[in-house]
Order: sequence, then structure tokens, then C-alpha cells
Amino acid sequence: MYSVYMKFPEGRGKALTFSYDDGVVQDKRLVALFDKYGLKATFNLSSNIFYDRRAASATDWWKPMTLEEAKELYIGSGHEVALHGHNHPYPHAIRTELEIYDVLKNREILEKEFGGIITGMAYPQGTYNDEIIQGLKLADVSYSRTVKNTHGFAYPPENWLALHPTCHHKDERVLELAEQFKSLNYSGSTNAMLYIWGHSYEFDLDNNWDHMEKLCETLSGRDDIWYATNIEIYNYQKAFNSLEISLDGTVIHNPTATDVWVRRHPYLFHGETVKIGAGETFIAE
Ligand SMILES: [Zn+2]
Repeated sequence: MYSVYMKFPEGRGKALTFSYDDGVVQDKRLVALFDKYGLKATFNLSSNIFYDRRAASATDWWKPMTLEEAKELYIGSGHEVALHGHNHPYPHAIRTELEIYDVLKNREILEKEFGGIITGMAYPQGTYNDEIIQGLKLADVSYSRTVKNTHGFAYPPENWLALHPTCHHKDERVLELAEQFKSLNYSGSTNAMLYIWGHSYEFDLDNNWDHMEKLCETLSGRDDIWYATNIEIYNYQKAFNSLEISLDGTVIHNPTATDVWVRRHPYLFHGETVKIGAGETFIAE
């Protein structure tokens, strides 16, 4: 009798992901930083800013990109473009049907301009309620990030539509949490996720690009960490959830197009990590 647990790709037990909002010009420097250190991030974009440019000249630090700039930066970058509301409303404070319309309009425009299927999201203003969550399910939104910092690494999240990050990049504990995450040995049946969020204009406002570079550097280049966008993690989990597994854990069929790694674990001790290739069936000896 074997229990079957998910492992991240290549059998890893830890995933690191970043989430940055609003599509401001400072994202160009941030993408360069992520690329330098081999990190992956999700960028949450409000689409109306591409058409109504009045807010773009309101301050000298909040500088949303033009549509052309955004397309040049994100398309083909390996980073994820995700939803952030067409008008960036306060979701909890407007009527639910208007919020859902705003999300769907955002999705329609981003998919048209950036290509692909865009179902990731970060709540504009970080706010939500149960009714909004129900609406997002109907709109086929995969996950939506909040601004409620857990200071933890629990994985999988309890509710993908209330996806709580570990912390903001300028949290006073962020470097301590990064060290703690690095020291975790999660080769067994459990997994961990470090999830950091923010806005790249904050690095200009706070004059702390060096802090972000230090954070990126310390978390980079590790074999035991999967560097992934939010949707890559969500879709991988979805592939694991789609596995067909015999009751005793001896036969595992993967009907998806994604290779999935699992940890097969008997009642106590031992256990082995196995790759179940896309479309393949594993049968224990
Ligand atoms: Zn925002």
C-alpha cells in the first residue's frame, strides 16, 4: 500500500515565484534582474491603462508602460502576464457583476494583445470577498493573489482564488525567510513555496534596487528549487491532480501533456521519487 504525493519537476520539493503588479516602466529593470539570476515571475496588468493615459502623467514614479512597451517586454520573455482588472477597481466595493465584467474584459484584451490563455490574476487593491471568488470561478480564473502575507511556505495553498503570498519584497523578514527557505530539506513527501510580491516602482521610491538584487542573488542557482511563474505552478499542480492512481498506489496513469514527478511512500520510511511521463502509465514491480 503506497501513498502518492506530488513533487515539483525533477522531484524537487521547493518552488520560488514572484508577482509584480501594474505593468510600470520599472518592470523593464526588474525583468532584467530576474533574467540575470534565472528567476521567474508573474506580471499583473490592468488593461485600461494602455488606452486611458491620463494617470500615466500623474506622478513621476508611477509610470505605466504603453501597450507597445509592455508587449516588447513580456511577450516571449518566459515570464507570465496575468490579470489585474481592466480598470483596477476595488473588487470588494463594486457590484460583483461589474467586477466580473472588468475581469473578463481584462482577460479578453490581454489574451488578444499578449497571446495565449491568461487565467492567472492578482486582486487589484488586494481585496476580495466570497461572492467575487464565486464569480472568478465562473470566469475560469485559475488563481488570484491577495496581499495577505503569511510569512510561511505552506504548499499547496488552501484556496488558489485567495492565494496568500509569503511576503512583500521589503518585508523586514524577507532575507531571513529566504535563508530559512534555502535551508529546508523537502526531499520527502512535502513541498514548500516561497512567494514574494510587490510593485517595481517601489524600488525607485525606496531607492532599494540593491536590496532586490541581493534577494535575487541569494535565492538563485539552486538545484533543489523550481523557479517558476505562478501559472506554471498552478498548471503543474493541476496535472498532478489529474493523475489516475490505483487504490494501492501501484499503478499511476498520467493522462496529461505534462511530465509529473511523484513521491511513492509506504506506511513508514523509505519511499521513492518517480517520474510519470506525459501520457505514460507507471506500474510498480
Ligand atoms: Zn495594482
